[in-house]
Amino acid sequence: MTGTPTNAEIAQRLKEIRALMEFAGEPYFKFMAYERAAEAVENASPVGDLVSGGRLQEVPGIGKTIAGRIAELCATGSCAYLDELQARFPLTLLEVLSVPGVGMKTAQMLFERLGIASLDDLQRALDAGALAEIPRLGKKSVENIKRGVLSAKSRAHRTPLGTAAARAAEIVAFLAERSPAADLTPAGSVRRHEATVGDIDIICTSDAPDAVIAAFTGWSEAEAVLAEGSTKASIWLPGALQVDLRVLPAHLYGNLLQHFTGSREHNIQLREAAVRANFRVSENGIVDLRDGRLITCRTEAEVYATLGMAEIPPEMRLGLGELEAARDGTLPAVVGLGDLRGDLHVHLGPETTLEELAAAAAARGYEYLTVIGAEPEPARAVGERFGVRLLTAADVGIRADGSLAAPDALLAAMDLVVASVRADLDLPRDEMTRRLIRACENPYLTVITHLTGRRVGGDSGYAFDHEAVFAAAARTGTALDIDGRPDRLDLPGSLARRAKEFGVTFACCSGASNVADLAHVTFAIGQARRGWVTAAEVLNARPLAGVLAFAGAKRTAASHAGRFADP
Ligand SMILES: [Zn+2]
Repeated sequence: MTGTPTNAEIAQRLKEIRALMEFAGEPYFKFMAYERAAEAVENASPVGDLVSGGRLQEVPGIGKTIAGRIAELCATGSCAYLDELQARFPLTLLEVLSVPGVGMKTAQMLFERLGIASLDDLQRALDAGALAEIPRLGKKSVENIKRGVLSAKSRAHRTPLGTAAARAAEIVAFLAERSPAADLTPAGSVRRHEATVGDIDIICTSDAPDAVIAAFTGWSEAEAVLAEGSTKASIWLPGALQVDLRVLPAHLYGNLLQHFTGSREHNIQLREAAVRANFRVSENGIVDLRDGRLITCRTEAEVYATLGMAEIPPEMRLGLGELEAARDGTLPAVVGLGDLRGDLHVHLGPETTLEELAAAAAARGYEYLTVIGAEPEPARAVGERFGVRLLTAADVGIRADGSLAAPDALLAAMDLVVASVRADLDLPRDEMTRRLIRACENPYLTVITHLTGRRVGGDSGYAFDHEAVFAAAARTGTALDIDGRPDRLDLPGSLARRAKEFGVTFACCSGASNVADLAHVTFAIGQARRGWVTAAEVLNARPLAGVLAFAGAKRTAASHAGRFADP
């Protein structure tokens, strides 16, 4: 840990102490004091300030002993008492305790009798049938534990956003048709457009939650039902994917959606900001601490407005300055799907025809579509029939020396040129940087796509100086694509936010080679929003004339200067 730990980190340590104390058989009132303290810390002003000001014990729920432990945690990141507990009981026991169906008594028994101290230990014991040796565990309990382990593993296993979002949409469509659910919304990491998700959270409202739960757990795609209650249930889908559904009364929809959208960091910061303004926020509503009044919100906008903030788009809820901006009125109006006037990276090939692409583009309300692999004449003619301008483009590789892998005459004949790094991925960092800067300086190159070469859930991409390339892209008028293909999402939102500071122009494209995949542009927009990108910064949010002017300006500038001068 570097610097002073955050309130969330301190609270986490206190919860670890609490769990290990219970495991050690300490009395209830003793370990519950740590639970209350953890909660108090989550809602308090920054603990570092309280410690240095000697005001820690003024916080309700924090007594002398625990205040001492917190001071120790603040100073060193740990405390002697926690170290002592951990020496007797490994922290991985918390994994075992997190398994649905394993209570404290069972976990203690598994540890004492079989030495099970982690999720892996438990899986091995289940595989070996060792749990049958424990007399107090019946067949049914062992079955419950098996299901619980699946659930705990789903949370550890990450599913790519593209897969999870498609699954979430299927469930929403199923429940909309077969159950009395309203306000069906995927929340959590799917809604925030995290590149990979641990599990799918869906929330909805209904007057008849039983019927909604029954439809959900009865879904034919469910491999197992992990939990089933009166207002929530969890199922397990093929591919180690858990889905949690919550059904709640309509008047709480705004509070619930806000709570279950997260992120955890965003919600912790929101609670801290709320306490400073005399409110306590939870999924059950907002309590005005001055008079104890409970405020419930039908919409998320009401939640944020109650706390004196503008509504924050879900993709931006990362705890990275968005709450301050929402309070100060400086939150940017981020680009939305409806701002796009076309797509600049679509392939003609065996999976589709010009007619299909033109019809689909018109149906999406696009003004233009850049089709790679199309001839100019048929593209113009087909586009006219469907009322869409079909542009032509080359999609070429960037060679190791930064030149484009196609003759200038071919590039000059196209409306636009898209390029990417496809080979020689292991160049030294400096050479890769030079290669990308040189590509930006090519007068024909309009858009660099999947700049980093990362793969979602896999390779993190090749090494280069991101900022030097962002500066070159801005200086030369080269757009950087946010590739919406689910295995790419490249640029990722975090880098887009950095690139924005350099004045980069972005493109938000699907990279589709069939009509269905044109919808992948949604994921490009998701990353753009995570990066605080506005419509004004997106090339394909401009009218056709603006796109052609952008490409043309670069060609003209280069023909005057001979090449781009580096200032
Ligand atoms: Zn392509």
